[in-house]
Amino acid sequence: QKYEANASRYEDMNYRRTGNSGLLLPELSLGLWHNFGKNDDFENARNLLKCAFDNGITHFDLANNYGPPYGSAETTFGKILKKDFKKYRDELIISSKAGYDMWPGPYGEWGSKKYLMASLDQSLKRMGLDYVDIFYSHRPDPETPLEETMGTLDLMVRQGKALYVGISSYSAEYTTKAAKILKDLGTPCLIHQPRYNMFDRWVENGLLDVLAHEGIGSIAFSPLSQGMLTDKYLNGFPDDSRAVKDGRYLNTDQINEHLSKIRSLNEIAQERNQSLAQMAISWILKDDRITSVLIGASKTEQILDSLKAIKNTSFSKEELVKIDKILK
Ligand code: NDP
Repeated sequence: QKYEANASRYEDMNYRRTGNSGLLLPELSLGLWHNFGKNDDFENARNLLKCAFDNGITHFDLANNYGPPYGSAETTFGKILKKDFKKYRDELIISSKAGYDMWPGPYGEWGSKKYLMASLDQSLKRMGLDYVDIFYSHRPDPETPLEETMGTLDLMVRQGKALYVGISSYSAEYTTKAAKILKDLGTPCLIHQPRYNMFDRWVENGLLDVLAHEGIGSIAFSPLSQGMLTDKYLNGFPDDSRAVKDGRYLNTDQINEHLSKIRSLNEIAQERNQSLAQMAISWILKDDRITSVLIGASKTEQILDSLKAIKNTSFSKEELVKIDKILK
């Protein structure tokens, strides 16, 4: 069946300017790290993308090695793009990255020009695209000169394979250096993608200040701490949850450690008439140095639930104090 996007898709979403650039991003973006691999349900994957786009989520975030197996999320995404989103290409921001382990040998990870150029070419092929909107260096490489990695990002833009470039998980100090190199090359750093959620607040310790000072945008990944900052684990471990289905990055021990905090946060969320997921997202969006919150989802209902977060992104002083006390 042919997909026609919801005609009122832009009505409820807010768009924020990405740093000093010309690019606006939706307050919520959707990531394809999980649930888009080779063995995941294709129709569900398709519905997740349609549900997001129908509600103004114009930005989809991928990386070379999302799957499993590596590459398969981009392949799935390419198929859906061709089937459903072809005529909407100019309404979409599509991101990919390279930096982590992708193929065997010395040229299949980190930050060399050799790896990054080849990886972007492969990503474009898998997705069936001429260019990505944003390409990221996925992690800092302590061995490769930063000039080489940033020079490669600049080259990608000059070759027309990426419109904008960004960096992910770079420290505040390394971000300052990267931003300077990119600026000198004439390709400003558009955006930084760090992990940021109530349980991991490292960005508050310098990075967000650097980004504001440099005019670089920010997009927070794992805003729900992979699902911990929701009400799903309050009464045990559901069979269809990430912690049970896929223990690679989130396991039940981690959740048990956080359970009493999750319970207390859930009470505050209820007082605010929000689900815990909504409050966790709102809490990130309260800071105007944040451009977008990058959620994941296994079900369309989760996207619909999370979307309501943008309706209330302000917190009273008392609420913030209570939250800080719980998180201590
Ligand atoms: P989240 O913290 O948003 O976790 C997503 C998971 O939370 C979902 O899969 C689902 O889990 C659960 N969930 C989502 N919404 C709800 C809801 N409303 N109610 C209840 N449960 C909910 O993000 P991710 O960790 O998935 O990361 C998001 C994206 O960030 C990735 O797809 C990727 O694009 C990017 N990322 C980037 C990294 C980097 O190094 N740059 C690293 C990691 C992620 P369940 O499956 O249990 O239903």
